[in-house]
Amino acid sequence: MSKDHPDGYLKHGREPIHKRDPDERKGDFEEIWEQKWDEDHLKSQGERCMSCGTPTCMSGCPIGNIIPDWNDLVYRGDWKRALERLHATNNFPEFTGYNCPAPCENTCTLNYNDDPVTIKSIERAIVDRGWEEGWIEPDPPEQRTDYEVAIVGSGPAGLAAAQQLNRAGHYVTVYERDAHPGGLMRYGIPDAKFSKKKVERRLDQLREEGIEFECGVEVGEDVPPETLAEEYDAACIAVGSQKPIDIPIDGRDLDGIHFAMEYLPRANPGQNDGVAVPEAMDAEDRSVVVLGGGDTGADCVGTAHRQGATQVVQIELLPRPPEERPEGNQWPDQPQTYEKSYSQEEGGVEEYCVQTQEFLDTDGDGAVDELHAHRVEWDQNEDGEWESTVVEEDMRVEADMVLIAAGFDGPEETPFDPLGLEMADDGTFETDDYQTSVDGIFAAGDANSGPSLIVWAIGEGRDAARHIDEYLTGETDLPPSLETDNEMVVSRR
Ligand SMILES: Cc1cc2nc3c(=O)[nH]c(=O)nc-3n(C[C@H](O)[C@H](O)[C@H](O)COP(=O)(O)OP(=O)(O)OC[C@H]3O[C@@H](n4cnc5c(N)ncnc54)[C@H](O)[C@@H]3O)c2cc1C
Repeated sequence: MSKDHPDGYLKHGREPIHKRDPDERKGDFEEIWEQKWDEDHLKSQGERCMSCGTPTCMSGCPIGNIIPDWNDLVYRGDWKRALERLHATNNFPEFTGYNCPAPCENTCTLNYNDDPVTIKSIERAIVDRGWEEGWIEPDPPEQRTDYEVAIVGSGPAGLAAAQQLNRAGHYVTVYERDAHPGGLMRYGIPDAKFSKKKVERRLDQLREEGIEFECGVEVGEDVPPETLAEEYDAACIAVGSQKPIDIPIDGRDLDGIHFAMEYLPRANPGQNDGVAVPEAMDAEDRSVVVLGGGDTGADCVGTAHRQGATQVVQIELLPRPPEERPEGNQWPDQPQTYEKSYSQEEGGVEEYCVQTQEFLDTDGDGAVDELHAHRVEWDQNEDGEWESTVVEEDMRVEADMVLIAAGFDGPEETPFDPLGLEMADDGTFETDDYQTSVDGIFAAGDANSGPSLIVWAIGEGRDAARHIDEYLTGETDLPPSLETDNEMVVSRR
């Protein structure tokens, strides 16, 4: 494919698909994104791609998306082929086109000394167009093998593995303990970031391709784990990494203190399965404190605003990242710089270098009223280790609801013990080429790599499927993930 627009970036500035006005959007639970986009606008953004000899954007993408090709196809108006190129490496481009932090944009060559190509907006536009035009259809296998595969967990990793294995002709059953499939795409990420209707239409595609879903079924509780080994030819454990990190300080057992993943699924209308929001999970007229500065904390801030909180304070123990790249953090490395989250754009207070000491019940009614904290400063000691020093002792923050978003610590207590699977030190499953210590049992996604990103989970699901297909049949036509030098299994949660 010849690419004749090396100077497009000189003609057009970077112009992503915008978010809605913060004041307007925080008044509802609809998506924060502008829903409509203009074809010519996206074409000009595609033209900004220089189609570099060494496409560093691709090495920034954990699934090796063939970004220059689809940028060029969009520039030429060949949206259908752009969609095919997109689907060649990514089963669910809308999951990433709407939610990915877009490490590819950070590594885009233009980002060296100009504004990067709006890769994420272009990806979103291609897949939006695909759904609108009816180009995304079920693609069941022409022939079936006799092999049966169980997938445990229906987040992006489980779904990607299921679709790939099903397309290879195997019979696939997905076990999901929640009422509906989708994992954190459905029960973690709020409607404001990604409408659940978009998860549903993908699930319809998967069902029509022949994948069976057994929902409300917890392996280890409703189905013995031995079933995986005894009744299936192979299994893939994709149970995520949802064990929350607690803050076990005085007052932790007061009412009004919840983990983020207790709160988010019940507080968002599209996620709570039609059940009214329980009072305990309603931030209306409350002063809310969110402990943790990652994506999960940001989603708590955004949800609390939408519920009508009087004030939302987001507290982070570490310092605020700098505006400019620090020394030694050069392109194409991922920038360690400050970025305002969508929910911080909508308001609230950001506090950095604050170490929570105690939750206080000042009126003795058994519920949290205040948070007592220290303000700290961070310095490196002689060995280069970071140490904190208290600079203000008696910091108080009003709090009648506290949401703990301090990260995740591997898969929840594993119900797979009877299988004798070895676990790694970080609590994830010990694997070699996705195969656990037990023959035929594989693991993928956050359960394998630790808490990460949707794009990484999709890549792991695809890769695991390839290894499972090879395990079953001795060969595989499923596509490999492109080799990348990407090292960003970073936790943003
Ligand atoms: C609030 C929040 C916001 C996030 N925002 C973003 C974002 O904006 N962008 C981004 O890229 N990433 C984001 N992430 C991270 C991303 O959602 C995860 O990395 C991704 O979903 C991991 O996919 P997974 O398939 O490995 O696991 P999960 O999505 O966690 O799915 C695991 C599934 O396994 C099921 N399960 C567990 N145990 C069993 C069992 N024994 N039997 C049956 N089923 C079981 C669970 O119910 C769940 O459905 C966010 C995470 C959170 C918590």
